[in-house]
Amino acid sequence: MQTDVQIAQSAHIKHIDQIAEKMGISPDKLEHYGKYKAKINPQDAFRLPEKKGKLILVTAINPTPAGEGKTTVTIGLTDALNHIGKQAIVAMREPSLGPVFGIKGGAAGGGYAQVLPMEDINLHFTGDFHAISAANNLLAAVLDNHIYQGNTLNIDPKRVIWRRVVDMNDRQLRHIINGLGKPTDGVMRPDGFDITVASEVMAIFCLANDLMDLKERLGKILVAYTFDNQPIYARDLKVNGAMAALLKDAIKPNLVQTIEGSPAFVHGGPFANIAHGCNSVLATKLAQHLGEYAVTEAGFGADLGAEKFCDIKSRLANLKPDCAVVVATVRALKYNGGVEKTNLNTENVNAVKQGLPNLLKHINNLKTGFRLPVVVAINRFVSDSDAELAEIQAACNAVGAEVSLTEVWGKGGKGGEDLARKVVAAVESSTNQFQFAYDENDSIINKINAIAQKIYGATGVELSAEATAEIANLERLGLDKLPICMAKTQYSLSDNATLLGCPTDFTIHVRGITVSAGAGFIVALCGAMMKMPGLPKSPAAEKIDVDANGVISGLF
Ligand code: ADP
Ligand code: MG
Repeated sequence: MQTDVQIAQSAHIKHIDQIAEKMGISPDKLEHYGKYKAKINPQDAFRLPEKKGKLILVTAINPTPAGEGKTTVTIGLTDALNHIGKQAIVAMREPSLGPVFGIKGGAAGGGYAQVLPMEDINLHFTGDFHAISAANNLLAAVLDNHIYQGNTLNIDPKRVIWRRVVDMNDRQLRHIINGLGKPTDGVMRPDGFDITVASEVMAIFCLANDLMDLKERLGKILVAYTFDNQPIYARDLKVNGAMAALLKDAIKPNLVQTIEGSPAFVHGGPFANIAHGCNSVLATKLAQHLGEYAVTEAGFGADLGAEKFCDIKSRLANLKPDCAVVVATVRALKYNGGVEKTNLNTENVNAVKQGLPNLLKHINNLKTGFRLPVVVAINRFVSDSDAELAEIQAACNAVGAEVSLTEVWGKGGKGGEDLARKVVAAVESSTNQFQFAYDENDSIINKINAIAQKIYGATGVELSAEATAEIANLERLGLDKLPICMAKTQYSLSDNATLLGCPTDFTIHVRGITVSAGAGFIVALCGAMMKMPGLPKSPAAEKIDVDANGVISGLF
């Protein structure tokens, strides 16, 4: 069997001009990065005739640690929609180098549902993440320099919130002391690095409507407090203009293609725990502007990904999703049904049955919580048995949910035609009644309670003393009327990764509250959140190689 990178390398890749032409974009409007990648100036593209494409959100049940194929289905569904005669464009995230060299591997789809050129997209691509790292680190450098140069803003070096970033899994940098050395070597203080995708600059980049909006939001980043407890924002350091200058090209969406030649905007990639986990607003809006269908993905399961897509991204960017596709796999249902990770490939119909309440809860949340039409996509694996698949189909039928057996990983767009037809039927037979899970003008605690109770099924919320104090602080600063970004485990509807299936009678524990004032959301931390992952004992990097012709192997 061929690996993902082998399939990608043997696919027929078209010149990017041909892909742009499918959307009515002439080649002179592209900013070329070689033959197969280009950036598009959104100002030019938004002047083209508007298609008002339907927005399809691909989400999933609570996953196994291997991922359940949301990206794969997102890409495959786009190709499938094009197969059945609908003009569809995919909008998705750019992969981070951390997971590429760590455990999870790349994030450009899998099998016959991938975006090309897969190696470039997974490695440096068009340099967006490097630009984001530079903008983040410019702010850090200017801030520390301000303290060193006399500190007229009276910043308390022990209350600097802003951290440096690098796009690599490097646990060695989590906690550092910087400013060591002679008096001219800076002011010594405890500090640390996060991975680039955890930077607030990344979240802002993905929520900005244009370059000026980006600049303004960068200015609103809360970076530190003074000795007398006053907030310091990036604009106080007069650095947001320079940060935006570093991002002026990165902010233009990247155009590439799927294996079958559908247009793909791959742009931005924030974390899905402390941030909202979706590609840039600009990419999503361009896909809707230029296509009849825009297919996009939100990170993690529907409790986190779809909730944030609806309550954060859609609210802040004025989007209205038209349909949700929930990816379910036999193995994740078995995992939710209590089967050990090592036994997921063995047939176990009863375990599938035990795991089904998880899927049904997500279907119900999307239908009644956000009022979205739902289609379940069973992402088929070769190890799935017919009896296991039938069990899922029967359960969906019993609650009147559309369900489709999806084989895009093995067959490309052809394997998703049934799913595509069901998505089109769901969109065409409903009027958009999309709603949020809460009102952003409500109090912070009421907003968290709404998510915990309506979406997770919790009985209530418990705040630590620290979280309560920070809520009071955000009220003092006038930063409380923002949507909430829940940072919790992706493995459970609760905040306990071992409570699988559809748990009831549990409480959500909010350990801490932070604000991403520039991005425009409040983060509720439920459990320990890792903003700088580490590498495993044998990292994927050990298997990645390049030959004398520049051909890359070992990427997956
Ligand atoms: P997610 O976006 O949900 O994290 P991905 O689409 O990235 O998931 O898929 C995770 C991994 O699983 C990828 O390596 C992908 O190639 C693989 N994968 C996805 N669907 C299938 C399938 N049907 N059969 C085998 N492998 C699959
Ligand atoms: Mg994904």
